[in-house]
Amino acid sequence: MHHAIACSCLVAGLAAATVSQDGFKYKVHDMERPQPAAVAPGTLQGSTAPSDAVALFDGKSSDKWTSGGKPCAWTIENGELVVKAGTGDISTKDSFGDCQLHLEFMVPAGRECKGQGGCNSGVFFMNQYEVQILNSHNNVTYADGMAGSCYGQHPPMVNACRPQGEWNVYDIVFRAPRFDKDGKLETPAYVTLMMNGVLVQDHVALLGSTAHAARAKYSAHAAELPIRLQDHGDPLRFRNIWLRKLPAPQKAE
Ligand code: MG
Repeated sequence: MHHAIACSCLVAGLAAATVSQDGFKYKVHDMERPQPAAVAPGTLQGSTAPSDAVALFDGKSSDKWTSGGKPCAWTIENGELVVKAGTGDISTKDSFGDCQLHLEFMVPAGRECKGQGGCNSGVFFMNQYEVQILNSHNNVTYADGMAGSCYGQHPPMVNACRPQGEWNVYDIVFRAPRFDKDGKLETPAYVTLMMNGVLVQDHVALLGSTAHAARAKYSAHAAELPIRLQDHGDPLRFRNIWLRKLPAPQKAE
């Protein structure tokens, strides 16, 4: 048995040192990609939106959201927006480009989570760039699909996920990609993410639109598009969702 274990470690070491066919160190969703270290986040005060924010969900109404052109099918319970499994993703009625987004989510206590199953949602900027929402507390999955990951691309620097039944807070700066008039990529999308007050993504460049089990790539699109929340079949809960539109990145003047 000892011999078998030693062999599998060696294979893992070799796999991690190999460059995949498309030039990346790890395959998409590579289980050999190292797991980020766990960090217990500190305590955050109950937060409220700044004065220039657009409230996307304030606990009372889901009328900023739509289920495929129809009224939002997810339910409001106890001032929280709850995924109604099977009704599909919801999208903002308004479109956004560069923005600062705040949202809080909770995976109910007692919900069985296994890898990507049981406790999965996601926030898609511009309808196509996913920041993963998942329970990653005592739940191992591929590093580029953990809570706080840019799905299929960038693992979080650390695992700052709180246990099930507790609220997680995302503060995300999203920079939209820029395309030239011929649809060629000029500037990639960038994501910065504070999870529970811990920096987990630091201005990472996205490789393209989120894909599952495939390398992401870009397709030109409008400068502003809706934000989408994922119905992955699990009853995650959301609260306190707000957004600030951002001006283009600053230059020295
Ligand atoms: Mg997801």
